[in-house]
Amino acid sequence: MADSTKVIPHADLETTPYWEAAREHKLKLPKCSQDGTFVFPPRPICPKCHSDKLEWTELSGRGAVYTFTIMHDKMVAGFDPPYVVAQVELEEQAGLRLQSNILECPVPDVYIGMPVEVTFEDRSEEISVPQFRPRSS
Ligand SMILES: [Zn+2]
Repeated sequence: MADSTKVIPHADLETTPYWEAAREHKLKLPKCSQDGTFVFPPRPICPKCHSDKLEWTELSGRGAVYTFTIMHDKMVAGFDPPYVVAQVELEEQAGLRLQSNILECPVPDVYIGMPVEVTFEDRSEEISVPQFRPRSS
């Protein structure tokens, strides 16, 4: 069910494959063919070795809460406080972190190091946003 009350991100040239994968409920990022570095946010060159040989690669969607904050003010339309804004570090690479809400979890239960997995929030027909929830297994 699409939730049109929240902000709907726009795809651009460098992020279109990210949003196309998310629409299929897959988490994909560019991966350097030379040294295996995942690149986020998506860019045309590897920040480590400057290679432009990147391939969009599906990730496991598994990670852990690296850090988080609890939003108490109603600052963004569609988001009912209190809610969590977290940095989730993906298991594929140290330092590979996505910003996310933590869904399907009471706010007081979120903790640093909590194992999480990707889930997808359908915000329109075109845009599904990768988000994270507590890992089920
Ligand atoms: Zn590289």
